Amino acid sequence: MRYIDPHIHCVSRTTDDYQFMARAGVVAVSEPAFWAGFDRGSAGSFADYFHHLLDVEPLRAARYGIEHFSWLCINAKEAENVELSRQVIKLIPPLLGHPRVLGIGEIGLNKNTRNEITIFEEQVDLAARHDQLILIHTPHLHDKHKGTAIITSILKNDPRIHPNRVLIDHCEEHTIKMAKDAGFWCGLTVYPITKVTPQRAVDLLEQFGPDQICVNSASDWGESSPSMLIDTALEYRRRGHDERQTLEVFHNNPCRFFGQIPKWKLKPLDT
Ligand SMILES: [Zn+2]
Repeated sequence: MRYIDPHIHCVSRTTDDYQFMARAGVVAVSEPAFWAGFDRGSAGSFADYFHHLLDVEPLRAARYGIEHFSWLCINAKEAENVELSRQVIKLIPPLLGHPRVLGIGEIGLNKNTRNEITIFEEQVDLAARHDQLILIHTPHLHDKHKGTAIITSILKNDPRIHPNRVLIDHCEEHTIKMAKDAGFWCGLTVYPITKVTPQRAVDLLEQFGPDQICVNSASDWGESSPSMLIDTALEYRRRGHDERQTLEVFHNNPCRFFGQIPKWKLKPLDT
């Protein structure tokens, strides 16, 4: 089986994780720009982070035979600092032509504050002006439903945004319908303790159908694991879906979303 992990923060992971992914059959990953676990103090920190994502991490992944792509943005947590956010946004346009950039992400909301919404709207505008794919982070737990509603309504009200070029990530039982019915791609993040479990992810795939859904591990510096993606595929097989159907969800769907831009070279596969 071949897999793609469409959302993973490789800069926070060890070589053991890369070895595990290579052995399991992960052939490509995409890494959204994210919060580092602390608020960075200057735009220069982000310039270095973007260099790390675009020029350093792809070489590390290549040692394990894994293709590595990234998304650029300022994340919702640090968007509370509007002035710093605008300095970071200015760094992005010259980098969009880089062969490893898939688009703008993961942008979205964290606590659904006014400042977060301002910076979210400015980054949606950035993506629209530069014709970029968008990867959306939706908030955690009790902020998720309201945040997803705000995000989808901003996107739907912008006529420049085509829903099939946007992936709404970290969907759960109470938010997936909102995203899917509007024509957006949906991400399911499988975590050992929070977000969805492998069983819940497979329930959602069965309930809503596998079209336009990407499953990811969103592994970062917290409690998370690249193995959650594989465990979800195994649960999908255990429920009676065959190898071809599993390949469709865990390899071909990410290829279809990312394949909307020519930089992404991997094609959907037959078994
Ligand atoms: Zn993430």
